[in-house]
Amino acid sequence: MNDINMNDSKGPQKKQNSFLYLIIIALVVSAGFLMWSKTETPMTKIALNTVIEEAKKGEIESINVVKSRLDITRTDGTKEYAYKDGDASIMDVLEKSGMSKEDIAKIGIEVIPTDSGDFWLNIFMSAFPILLIVGVLAYMMKQAQGSNNQAMSFGKSRAKLYDKEKSKTTFEDVAGAEEAKQELVEIVDFLKNPAKYLEIGAKIPKGVLLVGQPGTGKTLLARAVAGEADVPFFSISGSEFVEMFVGVGASRVRDLFKKAARNAPCIIFIDEIDAVGRHRGAGMGGGHDEREQTLNQILTEMDGFEKDTNVIVMAATNRPDILDPALLRPGRFDRRVVVDLPDLQDRIKILAVHGRNKPLTDDVNLEKIAKHTPGFSGADLENLMNEAAILAARNARKKVHMEDLEKSIEKVVMGPERKSRVLNDQEKKITAYHEVGHAVVGHMTEHCDPVQKVSIISRGMALGVTWFVPDEDKHLYSKAKFEDEMASLLGGYCAEEVFFNDVTTGASNDLEKATGIARRMVTEYGMSDMGQVIYGEKNHEVFIGRDLGHTKNYSEERATQIDKCITEYINVAYKRAKDTITKNKDIMKKIAEELLEKESLSREEFVKFFPKAKSAK
Ligand code: ADP
Ligand code: MG
Ligand code: ZN
Repeated sequence: MNDINMNDSKGPQKKQNSFLYLIIIALVVSAGFLMWSKTETPMTKIALNTVIEEAKKGEIESINVVKSRLDITRTDGTKEYAYKDGDASIMDVLEKSGMSKEDIAKIGIEVIPTDSGDFWLNIFMSAFPILLIVGVLAYMMKQAQGSNNQAMSFGKSRAKLYDKEKSKTTFEDVAGAEEAKQELVEIVDFLKNPAKYLEIGAKIPKGVLLVGQPGTGKTLLARAVAGEADVPFFSISGSEFVEMFVGVGASRVRDLFKKAARNAPCIIFIDEIDAVGRHRGAGMGGGHDEREQTLNQILTEMDGFEKDTNVIVMAATNRPDILDPALLRPGRFDRRVVVDLPDLQDRIKILAVHGRNKPLTDDVNLEKIAKHTPGFSGADLENLMNEAAILAARNARKKVHMEDLEKSIEKVVMGPERKSRVLNDQEKKITAYHEVGHAVVGHMTEHCDPVQKVSIISRGMALGVTWFVPDEDKHLYSKAKFEDEMASLLGGYCAEEVFFNDVTTGASNDLEKATGIARRMVTEYGMSDMGQVIYGEKNHEVFIGRDLGHTKNYSEERATQIDKCITEYINVAYKRAKDTITKNKDIMKKIAEELLEKESLSREEFVKFFPKAKSAK
């Protein structure tokens, strides 16, 4: 399986760099050698005659003979060099010049053999330029080859093959999600015992589509299937098919399926398939042709598999509604596994999974944490545990305390505290009354979730927060709840009005949210006098290639009516909020003062302001 392109572009790059370093080091070393050997040898040249004269006068201490070169050291220590006739020995030369043998003997004559000492240096010196040229050539060739390789592998799939041994994921790593797991157990069985199904004439499904919101564990489940079945797992993201060059996506698909067929049984996992599998046709802007080709290729390849090729294509998306219907028809991604946001029990399990390697104190109550985190995905919960561990480490604690977990829920839900944002006293006071307005109106209504916390510590963009947490997960919302929620949202605005006779920009976000609720009640949920007609496509976002131009499917007349209905809802909510606040002015004052002092109030601290009958809610 070594033909799998792991797309590790860093490897060759590093090698080339070290090659360059080697050349530079060689250059420096040889330059050093050159300098060193230069300083050792005499610098000035004299004639052979002069040498003889000086020898006669007894001025020469020693002569080193290296081939025909004479390195001369005088008695006064100065050094010079001369050349003699190649064959003649210096002894002979001196003798012939009339010097006595004794005089010659006084001079230390040393013949240095040329095959030692400098020999290797010389070889190196003479060979160095050649080495250098060869090196540079090799380097250049390597580079050329590298870019060549890149060009050649462009159409290759970039699928990553997960090492089965190293990071084996199993169903045990996936907490909760029982329904999804049950469906996938079947897939594992297909991969393990295909014969069982083929014998009875059943067709093994080719495609499984995992559908669920981001972070619900789709990728995790796909890997767990591969781990359980103990088969290779090719993972690729939809966006990797689509790159700069036209036609690349299609050829990558071809390559990927070829590899998979060779490695069967195996799993191909296409993450975020909506990047390529979007509804074909009416494309807008560039790039849709490429996507279409890629998608067509996927469809072709899936059809092209032999009946008994045991390759299962899994794909994940959080937008099944925008997928091309051709992808979803029988024989392709005909199995859908829905991965839901975890419910309370699942959240407890997920928290436990991610708390496995973190030392927790005994007071940590995961159930309580799970209760406070409705709507959190698996990824959110993992992040929550991690934040808590970071917090504990930052405070030099050896274990994660309940307090760390609670703080990190707040951080994840409401953004990090921004203690550095200093509000002046007036701003603080307005913020306090504003938040208490939300809390009190919410508390006084029947259907709002209980107040979990009121705070005037800045977080993210908000100056203060009131945090409502439901006692249990909710799946249905009633008209009455929406009405109560709108009233509570307007509570901040009304509090400013009642206590300061003025309103600030701080309420803008609340008004936006309230208007959003009212609009959806009218246009989507059929909760108004406008009747049970849905106005506009339910999908508000405009997707490239779809939906554009379809958003408004009602008349101008209806539009006016819709606006009227929305205004009516907001007006009612405003009146309720204002009523509640005017009636509870005294309580609000007390709560706001305590809030100003403590900066944040817990559920208990808030509830104790209300007479028993009310707080029993
Ligand atoms: P998706 O692909 O659906 O966006 P992932 O599978 O990438 O989500 O999940 C992100 C991370 O969230 C995972 O790495 C895992 O740690 C965590 N996670 C999500 N769901 C679960 C779960 N059911 N059990 C344990 N961990 C989960
Ligand atoms: Mg994913
Ligand atoms: Zn507000």
